[in-house]
Amino acid sequence: MDRLASHKVTKDIVSKYGFRFTKSLGQNFLIDEGVLEKIVDAGDITKDDVVIEIGPGIGTLTKELSLRAKKVVSIEIDKMLIPILKDTLSERDNVTIINEDILKADIKSIVDEYADGEPVKVVANLPYYITTPIIMRFLEEYIPMSIMVVMIQKEVADRINAKPSTKDYGTLSVAVQYYCSTEIVAKAPKGAFIPEPSVDSSVIKLTVKEKRDVQLKDEHLFFEVVKASFSKRRKTLLNALSSFGTLGEKDQMKYALEKSDIDPQRRGETLDIYEFARLSNEIFEIKKGLKG
Ligand code: SAM
Repeated sequence: MDRLASHKVTKDIVSKYGFRFTKSLGQNFLIDEGVLEKIVDAGDITKDDVVIEIGPGIGTLTKELSLRAKKVVSIEIDKMLIPILKDTLSERDNVTIINEDILKADIKSIVDEYADGEPVKVVANLPYYITTPIIMRFLEEYIPMSIMVVMIQKEVADRINAKPSTKDYGTLSVAVQYYCSTEIVAKAPKGAFIPEPSVDSSVIKLTVKEKRDVQLKDEHLFFEVVKASFSKRRKTLLNALSSFGTLGEKDQMKYALEKSDIDPQRRGETLDIYEFARLSNEIFEIKKGLKG
């Protein structure tokens, strides 16, 4: 089905139920079959997979996922969409719809219940107003999953995927790349959705690392060091770290940088994840020494 045809099908469903789009819920439904296929293909979904979908809308992506997966569990906040989904997915017996807010739902229990705690695949066209909180929730809570394939704003995808010394590289890049390898697998113009969003979109694939690349003495401190390093992009790393407040005095930061083999005059945005790890582990030792 081409874009015009799926546009009509989507419009027909929406008008049949008198459904009104809620802009504040990020309701932009995908009508581009080509993009839809790229999302599902990127998930490498097989009959062994349990897929968690966030925000099924009227079930366009849900249906494609359910044709390939063992089971699809879709979490949708908008109760107006539930009867529509029951209808559009009436022929699919491997889909469960849960009417909840993804930021409040007990995701671990859902994974336990439907996948026996085995790693799931997360595939979704995300509501853009909460893209980062959703992704970070799945990662930080160590929800058992192998991959996450999500459609998000192009700018956010570029930031997640960015490499050191580029303008998009920042705390989000390091935070996500600590847990996953990242790859942009497709782009979608505004016209791929109804109604059209105000931004372009990309599909990003996050593959969860079975083993972290770096060994951290304190994960929380690592993220604090990353935050501090990017807090003043025009300043040297030494100044950014020492003016952050919680990490330590200037001479301690200088000592930590030198011990980590990092020039204190460099900018935070030039450090890769290994350098951030070395630095935070040195700062950890300094803090420990002060306590002891
Ligand atoms: N999957 C559909 C598609 O591709 O056409 C719809 C995607 S639309 C961008 C985002 C969906 O997420 C909407 O159905 C919206 O109601 C839902 N949503 C918004 N906020 C949510 C939340 N906090 N928890 C769960 N679903 C949410």
